[in-house]
Amino acid sequence: MTTRIYWFRNDLRLSDNRALARACRQATRLLPVYCHGAAFGETTRWGFARVGVHRRRILRATIDELSARLAARGSGLVELSGPPQDVLPRLARAVGARDLSCEAIAAPEEDAELEAMRAAGLAVDTTWQSSLLDPSGLPFAATELPDVFSAFRRAVEHAGLVPPAPQPPPADLPPLPDLPAEALSIAPVPPPPAGESDPRSSFPYWQRRFSGGEAAAHAHLEHYFARRLAHTYKATRNGLTGIDYSSKFSPWLASGALSARAAHAALKQFEDDHGANEGSYWLWFELLWRDYFRFLHLKHGRRLYRAGGLAGAGVPPHDAAAFARWRRGETGEPLIDAGMRELAATGYLSNRLRQVVASYLIHDLACDWRAGAAWFESQLVDYDVYSNQGNWLYLAGRGTDPRGGRRFDPARQARAHDPDGRYRALWGTA
Ligand code: FAD
Repeated sequence: MTTRIYWFRNDLRLSDNRALARACRQATRLLPVYCHGAAFGETTRWGFARVGVHRRRILRATIDELSARLAARGSGLVELSGPPQDVLPRLARAVGARDLSCEAIAAPEEDAELEAMRAAGLAVDTTWQSSLLDPSGLPFAATELPDVFSAFRRAVEHAGLVPPAPQPPPADLPPLPDLPAEALSIAPVPPPPAGESDPRSSFPYWQRRFSGGEAAAHAHLEHYFARRLAHTYKATRNGLTGIDYSSKFSPWLASGALSARAAHAALKQFEDDHGANEGSYWLWFELLWRDYFRFLHLKHGRRLYRAGGLAGAGVPPHDAAAFARWRRGETGEPLIDAGMRELAATGYLSNRLRQVVASYLIHDLACDWRAGAAWFESQLVDYDVYSNQGNWLYLAGRGTDPRGGRRFDPARQARAHDPDGRYRALWGTA
């Protein structure tokens, strides 16, 4: 009899979860686990909680939904808190397991967790599954990934690459192993924090419709395409307020409640049913950006986490007081302050304003891009290690921007994207 642990990471779903399906085939008893890692209790070097209230609240809903889904199939979910490399080997010993399966995450901390688990004697089996395209099917080796996004996209499109179809959930989950009391008392999980629900939000995750988990993710996908919003996506994607200006897939993609391949399959079905146009193409284009930052991690690994990034430039300057004003939305620049207030109040911000506020911090306030990236990590309900790191580096000119960094002029951005000042008025900065 083989008892195996399945460690859910950023893949909090049953459908199209190839890592889980593989674990189900390998085990006669399977123990699904979620670990609230060390990051949950951490204060960053910049002086704030590494995982903020919004992220904790949406994650709570996502885990509860996953847990109910597992229970409905005769399985269950054990939750632990603490560094996974400490608590998971202890859990494995308590239930008599030597094997652990999980998805692969190509980022330094996540890699280090696996190395430490292997050193602790666990046999760890990983499956890469978070991208749309399979890295092994790319027309170049991961080490040869073009460093410019357009070259990557052209190569993918020229090769006619099609993402694999999403897979159904496993028909059966292996039964749970016996769970001795010691296994369940290893590291209790703190309760979710209370928080405000701001009615101005563009992604009100506290409402059932936008809640974490697979059911809401798929209902949203259906709703989005049924309303044919993909056809107008390119024209509206630079919007600042409301639900419909962009797809809002990101919070579910980030937790893994929705797989990129499921989103893509729905997009293809939409194009088959209603025709492709520039709008629907642009959604594919943006999903390719998401893949690109993943593959960039496969190529460059830790180099993306140096202060100088790929440019190898030195440590950026930093002004702690200016950074604090930026975080609080008190810079005196109305568009920036409105964006920063929205982010702190709701955990979501449009792509346009993410670019504008990041550029302002780096290029106008001369602050360290890593502090900004850490603040986004703390706040965003769609925080994703690859996309966050990649975008911040790009804007700082320390990643793969062929122009060497982007500065957005806030006054010009306000004229173009908030001409009547409605957005600034909404957040009290007009
Ligand atoms: P849509 O515009 O509808 O796009 C559809 C999907 O395409 C998104 O869900 C996302 O998966 C992908 N996508 C779109 N733009 C990008 C992009 N620039 N980079 C990578 N993928 C993209 N996105 C995250 O998911 N998590 C992050 O932590 C994150 N941090 C960011 C930090 C900065 C400084 C910037 C400029 C962008 C960041 N983004 C991040 C990318 C982008 O802003 C969000 O993916 C997008 O705003 C999410 O809303 P949406 O799902 O409605 O996007």
